[in-house]
Amino acid sequence: MMNNFRTRLTLIMIGIIGLSVLASGLIMANMFKSKHIQGLESSMVREISIIASGMKWAPPGENMSEQFDYYTRLADDLNRDTGARTTFIRPDGLVLGDSYHDPRTMDNHLQRKEVQQALSEGTGRTIRLSDTMNTNMLYVAKTVQVGQDNYVIRLAMSLASVDQSIRDLWTALIVWLLVLFLVGALVSFRVAQGMTRPLEQITAVAKRIQRMDYRARVTVVKNDEIGELGSAINAMADSLQEQMERIRRNESQLESVLDNMINGIVMIDRTGRIVLISRRAEEILGFSSKELVGRHYTDARQQHELTQLIREAFEKQSYIHDEMTFYYPEERLLELNIVPVMQDQDEFTGVLLVLQDVSAIRRLERMRSEFVANVSHELKTPVAAVKGFAETLLSGAVKDEETSRSFLQIIYDESERLNRLIGDILELSKIESRRVPLLFSPVEMGTFAAKTLQLLEAEAARKAIELKLVADGDIYVEADEDRLRQIIMNLLANGISYTPDGGKVTLIVEPVWPASYSHTAQLDDEARDDYDRIRIIIKDTGIGIPKKDLPRIFERFYRVDKARSRSSGGTGLGLSIVKHLVELHNGTIAVDSEVGVGTTFVIELPVIHP
Ligand code: ADP
Repeated sequence: MMNNFRTRLTLIMIGIIGLSVLASGLIMANMFKSKHIQGLESSMVREISIIASGMKWAPPGENMSEQFDYYTRLADDLNRDTGARTTFIRPDGLVLGDSYHDPRTMDNHLQRKEVQQALSEGTGRTIRLSDTMNTNMLYVAKTVQVGQDNYVIRLAMSLASVDQSIRDLWTALIVWLLVLFLVGALVSFRVAQGMTRPLEQITAVAKRIQRMDYRARVTVVKNDEIGELGSAINAMADSLQEQMERIRRNESQLESVLDNMINGIVMIDRTGRIVLISRRAEEILGFSSKELVGRHYTDARQQHELTQLIREAFEKQSYIHDEMTFYYPEERLLELNIVPVMQDQDEFTGVLLVLQDVSAIRRLERMRSEFVANVSHELKTPVAAVKGFAETLLSGAVKDEETSRSFLQIIYDESERLNRLIGDILELSKIESRRVPLLFSPVEMGTFAAKTLQLLEAEAARKAIELKLVADGDIYVEADEDRLRQIIMNLLANGISYTPDGGKVTLIVEPVWPASYSHTAQLDDEARDDYDRIRIIIKDTGIGIPKKDLPRIFERFYRVDKARSRSSGGTGLGLSIVKHLVELHNGTIAVDSEVGVGTTFVIELPVIHP
């Protein structure tokens, strides 16, 4: 396009040069011709005057034939001397003599233009193509007074030489014209190029800006209009770049706000097309924004009730709040807020869907109320027993010493149980609310495990249960000693409780090396000390736990067999406390069990607590 412009500009300039050279050539040729002819003319007029004054006119009375011969001879002589064709003409137009023709054969010349002019003005002239010589001839005629009559002498000269000179002039002119043309073309091409090159550069920059490359700048430094255009484009690019940066900044701010919001956000425009989905909303809905953005909300393969609710919000253009259980990608209870978006007060531009996963909150609420119900229930049983036996005693049983002794024993046991229950509940709530910080110190596991086991020896002996310890010396762990003892005691006590007489409970302590260490390779002494965790295993040969109960045994008050737990004096809180304490040590606990064979609890604790 730019090339077209350049070509056009070049052609126009060449055209102007060509035309002016042509015009000056024409003017020059014309001037040359008319000056030449004028000069010839005046010299011919002078020649006629000289001829007229030097010649002798034949007496009019003489016979015509002689007159013709006389003038013809004269004309021939003059033609020889001057090189001009000479013609003598009588006032009535009769040709008396001529250098080229016999006057007897010639027509009357009265009507010839130069003759007419000479008769009226004294001299006359004309240029015309001569029939005989086929060249342009200049005819000049002058009247000469002979007596009373005006005779006419006419001279004619060929203009062939003049024409030839003009032709030579034109040849020279054309050669010059060509040279000028070439030079002009070259010069104008350069000039046009000089004008269009900055324009081309500016165009290229404008195109880059159009392709959103806002770093593009014009480098033309000129003080003319093109330079101004360049600076204007640069200023435009500056401001575009700045604006784009601001927009990008705002966008990324908004994006990070959206990405870090706990609530999921979905924006739907006026036409019902989804225009934005925050990262959290992607997680909650189980779809990526790539799948959903740009689609109509009814095509989004969402739960029917949600689609319904959005439709309602569109119809009413008002705020809608609801709670809904979702089953995809996982079961969740979602709180939904659908807010109509208004622009300029009253123009409806779509809706904003705010999703909040309230499953955890609701679960917690449910757990809390269940816990309260459980606690009340658990407390009620011993309290009812205490109350019942005390009443029986009061209503007379106290008099029978044996009965009252056994009743008082029950009352004592039940209140003891109540005490333990309240103690466990308080303990659990303290641990859960993390009111007591852990006091970490290095614990040497060999000695520690042996001492803990000792505390339960009497209990085990009563049931003839063998207590066994398998622990290497020199295994250290950073832990809160009291809490760690509580964990192990709880599990050992359970092991003893749920194992029939004559069984066996084993406590194993072992180091765990990082996964990068090969287990089969012999560890050298140095590497042996590189264990990063320890494993504590409590294994019994007891009644076991059915598979279906395994996932629930760490829940508060959960017991596999209520009656059995009660008779063993359990509260149903032991394993929950253990799990919490293990987690406070950043450890993990797992259980494996087979009914009638035994149960194994495996705890892993990190050695170091940063
Ligand atoms: P409890 O005070 O009833 O022992 P826990 O929270 O300590 O309460 O244990 C929860 C339930 O898990 C127990 O009631 C029992 O049914 C089961 N359980 C715990 N440890 C064992 C075990 N070593 N062998 C068999 N069952 C067990």
